[in-house]
Formats: sequence, structure tokens, C-alpha cells
Amino acid sequence: MRTDKEAKEIVVQVTNEMFSLGLLTATGGNVSSTSPDGETLWITPSRLYKGNVKEEDLVRIRRDGSKVEGERDPSVEWQMHFGCYTARPDMTGALHTHAPIATAMGIVGLPFPPINTDAVFLRDTVLVPWIMPGSKELADAVEEAMRKSRGCFLQNHGLMTVGKTLRDAASRAMNLEETAKVVLYCKQFGGEMTLLPDEWVDRLASIAEFI
Ligand SMILES: [Zn+2]
Repeated sequence: MRTDKEAKEIVVQVTNEMFSLGLLTATGGNVSSTSPDGETLWITPSRLYKGNVKEEDLVRIRRDGSKVEGERDPSVEWQMHFGCYTARPDMTGALHTHAPIATAMGIVGLPFPPINTDAVFLRDTVLVPWIMPGSKELADAVEEAMRKSRGCFLQNHGLMTVGKTLRDAASRAMNLEETAKVVLYCKQFGGEMTLLPDEWVDRLASIAEFI
């Protein structure tokens, strides 16, 4: 059984890691983990610089957005996080990144071509069209997307991932950015992309859920 202390620790750890990797920007992006009570979640605060987040900066909120613990205001995207957990009640971690290369891939609406195993595992990533950040409409669209995949592009904005643990969600966010980077490099080289054989795409896709 996880504790609230562990939930806070992993949110702080992942937030600072993702900032160091450039997947979160100075104030863009947000990270959450569910509380063991099954009702509330721990989330990064609104507007705060993401490079040095501490446990005391986090906010614990209820499903209606009301605060249980914490001094600061929760991220304006808190509804989007609850949307992820509503879609996938067995998941305990979610993060919204502004990872630049994957965000750009979403802007051009490019699906992942099957160039490597990660690209096959990530090809079910849903493209959610532009909807005002922080709105209930965006949260509803993300909830719908997360019923089909554990990650989505938020077009003209960023990305969202969810996982059984916050570490899993963070790994998926990293894989999205790294795979988008390989696609970008291929396009910069300008040659024709060699794709995995269809047979292998099907075989790999069938084990994607376990990755
Ligand atoms: Zn954002």
C-alpha cells in the first residue's frame, strides 16, 4: 500500500527530472499522483517555476477541485488529471508535458511511423484537437482519449500520459519525446524511412500493453 508521503516524493522527483530533461518548461506542464485514499490527488501548483519543486509546494485536492492540503493553488489543469484517473481507475500517476519535439509532432498531426519498437508501442497515441487549456471541455476530451491509449497529443499545446505508477507515466512521456526526436532526425536526413515489416508491427503491437 502506497502512502501519501510516497505519492508526494514521486511527484517531486518526476517533476524535477522532467524539468531537467526539458519536458516541462519553466511554468508549463504539471504532474500528479493519486492519494492512497482513492478520492484525492497530489498535484504540482499553478504557475510555480518547475525547476525546484519541493514537497511543501504540492497541493492535495478533491475531485471538485477543493483543497485538502497545501498552501498554493493547484495547477489549472487539475481536471485533466482527474479525467485520466476516471478513464483508467487502476492508474496512479499522470503528467502533462510541454515536450517540444513531440508537441511539434502533434501540431503537424503526424502519426508515429513504425520505425522502431517504441514507435509501434506509441502509435495508439490519440490526437486531441486544440481546446482551451484548463477547461472542463479539455478534461473531458482527455478522459475520452485515455480510454483508447495511455497517452495523447494536445494539439498546439503539449502531451498527457498516464500510468499504473507515476514512473510508468513519466517513462511514456520520455519515450514519446525520444521517438519524436528520431522521426525528426529521419526527416532532417531527408532519405526514405525504412519501416518495420508489417508482420513485426502486428507482433509488437500485440505486446504493447505490457510495456
Ligand atoms: Zn500545458
